[in-house]
Amino acid sequence: MSEPAYVLDSTAFYAGIPYQGSGRYYTTYLVLEEVKHNNIGSSFLHSRVHVTEPSPDSVNKVKMTAMKTGDAGALSQTDLSLIALAMDLSIADGGVNLVSDDFAVRNVAKVLAIPLAQTSIKGGAWKNIVWKNYCRGCGKEYTNPKLTDCPVCGTRLVRKATG
Ligand SMILES: [Zn+2]
Repeated sequence: MSEPAYVLDSTAFYAGIPYQGSGRYYTTYLVLEEVKHNNIGSSFLHSRVHVTEPSPDSVNKVKMTAMKTGDAGALSQTDLSLIALAMDLSIADGGVNLVSDDFAVRNVAKVLAIPLAQTSIKGGAWKNIVWKNYCRGCGKEYTNPKLTDCPVCGTRLVRKATG
């Protein structure tokens, strides 16, 4: 058995995860861009962390899934790249775990059956959540994450977790 592999988000870098243990660490260029402003992008880091790009197919699949779960609006390009990379690696190398504390990232990863590392800084139980846009004015619910105002009465919609 090879040692475990981890796909790291920026909070994992801030938590110092790549500096501990002996796992194989992966991240995307977009994550590296975020963390290198904080002097984390040293040559040491480059020797410990494999920086790679996800396949465009996986990025598209993650986007489609995020639209369905209602998480699309909460995910940055960086988040999308990270989930897509974890998806690529979980196909190529079954032993990969995604490390992220971001709720939307974890939710989409779970729907895509990507293993999530249980090293969450906050901990707690995670379950799949489908977000709906809810109108406080007339009580209607909408699944389209792009809607910001109620088409019926014009009230600003609020996000509501269901399921
Ligand atoms: Zn309404």
